[in-house]
Amino acid sequence: MPVAVTILVNGKMVLVNPAAVSLLEADDERQLLGLSVAEFIHPLDQPRSHGRLNKRGADWLNAPAQFRLRTQKGNFRMILVASLSIRFEDRNAVLISGIDMTKHSEMEEQLRQSELNFRHLFENMQDVYYRTDARGIVQKVGPAVYKLLGYTPDEVEGRPAEAYYPNPADRDALKQAILANGKVSDFPGQMVAKDGHIIDISVSSQALFDDVGNFAGVEGICRDVTQRKMLERELKNLATTDTLTGIANRRAFLERAEHIFNSCQRYQTGMTLLMLDLDFFKQINDKYGHLGGDTVLTCFADTVKLELRVSDLFGRVGGEEFCVLLQQTTQHEAMLVAERIRVRIQDLPLQAPDGEHFSLTVSIGIASYHADDDRLGRILERSDKALYHAKSNGRNQVVWDG
Ligand code: GH3
Ligand code: MG
Ligand code: MG
Repeated sequence: MPVAVTILVNGKMVLVNPAAVSLLEADDERQLLGLSVAEFIHPLDQPRSHGRLNKRGADWLNAPAQFRLRTQKGNFRMILVASLSIRFEDRNAVLISGIDMTKHSEMEEQLRQSELNFRHLFENMQDVYYRTDARGIVQKVGPAVYKLLGYTPDEVEGRPAEAYYPNPADRDALKQAILANGKVSDFPGQMVAKDGHIIDISVSSQALFDDVGNFAGVEGICRDVTQRKMLERELKNLATTDTLTGIANRRAFLERAEHIFNSCQRYQTGMTLLMLDLDFFKQINDKYGHLGGDTVLTCFADTVKLELRVSDLFGRVGGEEFCVLLQQTTQHEAMLVAERIRVRIQDLPLQAPDGEHFSLTVSIGIASYHADDDRLGRILERSDKALYHAKSNGRNQVVWDG
């Protein structure tokens, strides 16, 4: 019998089967015969055991119940025990049968623990756990969804996940990526909160499949990355913007100009570069101080901007040197823009802190894209040469290259 069986007479074991010997970790049955069964019962379970085994009268039966035992070797076991009164060799006796449940209860405990751990994680994590079915209906969502979107889990469960995406294409892209790779990690997107504001999110999730391999939905976590995105945008802004004037810095200007140059080469479209250098700027610095000079630089940039369109590129490429890139503009149009800038600057009513009025002029060299230009540097060199001529011809003028 796979079940441990022992027969007791006066509380002492008079018969044990091999399963009982092995359950109690004895070497053989002789080690057990004559011993009281109480010796093996855990002290906390002894009163209960005693009550069950010492019932008066004949023909009783104890329903199965769990008891903790200590084996011959001192190990603990959890046993499911049933017992009944019998007649054995003409004496009143008790037959006990037991099944070792130790493994079972360990598993149960492990399951309980892992369930507890999951609950704890589910209730307390900052990220939002979610699971949808194959149609994209939210089946389960963690309580953190309230902090993310302002909805309680009750409000979200049962609704399509699409409902929270301001841009359905985002949700489609996510779904495609999950289906193509089985999972996604840190996938970017946006969601719309209950109060209507848009938040940046990042999703890490995987596809779920049923027993026969059919797509059964998606499970994953969703995280609010609005702060991170804002920081990223701010950092990018800092890296590409000139802090004094707010226009593109040298690196950003050259990078974008390079881009435009490449497309000029590919599509044989045109571009024109204006190189601007303030005249006698050292004198302004000397007279009004470096801070005064900075104010003039800001004024200059703001004034030039008034003559530009959104598609024009404007950058500060040196201390008081600036570049403007005009796309698809004829020589005539470019000259007009440059001339308008020159006049605007010349007419700028500048005033020193002491109230004194002064003026500023700018020299501008212009060059445009030639079909045989192999790099952006060629146009920069030609506009620089034109600028040199503008300076040497007396400043405050526009000179076309060539
Ligand atoms: P030119 O007409 O030949 O261009 O004369 P210039 O005085 O402008 O000569 P140059 O271009 O060689 O001198 C530029 C001056 O601009 C020198 C430098 O002190 C000043 N400068 C450069 N960067 C800044 C800045 O960020 N702020 C201020 N206030 N001055 C700057
Ligand atoms: Mg200069
Ligand atoms: Mg100068």
